[in-house]
Amino acid sequence: MRKRLKQLFLFILCLVLILQMFPHTNKKIPKSIQKEVKIALMHYPELRDIPITFKFKRNIKKSVMQAQPTFGALFKSKEERNYTILISEKFKITGEEFKTVDVPSDVLVGWLGHELGHIMDYQNRSGFNLIGFGFRYVFLKEYVKKAERAADSFAVSHGMSQYILKTKRFILDNSAIHPTYKDRIKQYYLSPDEIMEMVKQQDSADNG
Ligand SMILES: [Zn+2]
Repeated sequence: MRKRLKQLFLFILCLVLILQMFPHTNKKIPKSIQKEVKIALMHYPELRDIPITFKFKRNIKKSVMQAQPTFGALFKSKEERNYTILISEKFKITGEEFKTVDVPSDVLVGWLGHELGHIMDYQNRSGFNLIGFGFRYVFLKEYVKKAERAADSFAVSHGMSQYILKTKRFILDNSAIHPTYKDRIKQYYLSPDEIMEMVKQQDSADNG
């Protein structure tokens, strides 16, 4: 009897371990960015049970990626919502065209971490609030700034500052990137200095 129990226990343990090896099965991820998405998701254990579809789109206006709730999600409870992260296949570069999957891996992880930050922000809102959020985001510049900075802050507080900084530097220090996009990043997002300041504050809070 004891032996049986031991075997049963071992069997359950193995099953749990095997299941642990395949987390995020509720995530749909294109093969080409699987590694980067998994690294970004590891920083957000809260999103483990939230279905998210990562999908390439030919071209997204004004941005490289876009996190959004599915239409049906607006009428569901927070636990049942699902989201889509659209990823532009091409990246706006002056003159030449350049694919998003060709940017350095860590930069891509930073980008994804920012988008997951948006989802964290959406998870704090009711469906009604999300609809209002959409309108305000489209019409109010100040609101865009608030939302983008919130997404960056979530990524930093989830231990992704190094990736986020790499993404910022990739954009701001890259002469091939269109100035309009750089200005947008400077205007609406956290600056590298602000991120460093946040990390410093976080560290001192952790140590004190
Ligand atoms: Zn954003």
